[in-house]
Amino acid sequence: MAVRLVFLGPPGSGKGTQARRLGKRFNLVALSSGDTLRQEMKLGSAVGRQAEQYVNGGTLVPDDLITDVMLAGMQKLPKGSGCIFDGFPRTVPQAESLAAKLAGSGERVGQVFDFHLPDEVIIGRIVGRRVCTKCGATYNMDHFPPKRPGVCDECGSRLVQREDDCAEVIRTRLETYRSQTAPLVAFYRQRGLLHSVDASRPADQVECELAQVVETLPQ
Ligand code: AMP
Repeated sequence: MAVRLVFLGPPGSGKGTQARRLGKRFNLVALSSGDTLRQEMKLGSAVGRQAEQYVNGGTLVPDDLITDVMLAGMQKLPKGSGCIFDGFPRTVPQAESLAAKLAGSGERVGQVFDFHLPDEVIIGRIVGRRVCTKCGATYNMDHFPPKRPGVCDECGSRLVQREDDCAEVIRTRLETYRSQTAPLVAFYRQRGLLHSVDASRPADQVECELAQVVETLPQ
């Protein structure tokens, strides 16, 4: 059965970084809901146009919209290919839709990682975050700067600050997380799928812990 992982946690908790790392390590496709929406917005597609006001304001796009996009993304994966859902589901109805879809093909979510870290650390991380316009790699101006200012180490493309990574929108995103996404912790705990991660540690340590858990999952 293909591995299905879910990364849950507030913005700036390192989900994207870890999804990329574990994806490479275990040959899993990282499906980031935020990256997918930003890509659609850049293309100016119907989905992108519908999502724009929510993404830029730091609130959640409607459940049906994101669920359709993410489940379609999963269906496009090569047969037998495992994946990491980074940033999806973010509400209980989204989690229910994902479970129902997987159940339809005899599958289930294998593990949910819940990334924890204090708000002050989150805000510092997000304000200093720069993202590659091409490959999506992320940097932090204080803790993990690129070798050449403004240029991605991995692909040489331009780095930018996301529009929703400003202090004002971050506050809304954290509130949205607490009111709409945090209830998913109980949802997955009840199903015995939750593994909590101290995400304030260096990325190598976090990766090591996640990898140990993934290694125990049936492939
Ligand atoms: P992220 O890159 O994960 O921080 O997501 C950026 C923005 O995309 C969020 O603030 C939401 O507006 C939107 N978004 C991403 N994932 C979801 C989701 N699962 N449900 C609803 N909105 C989402």
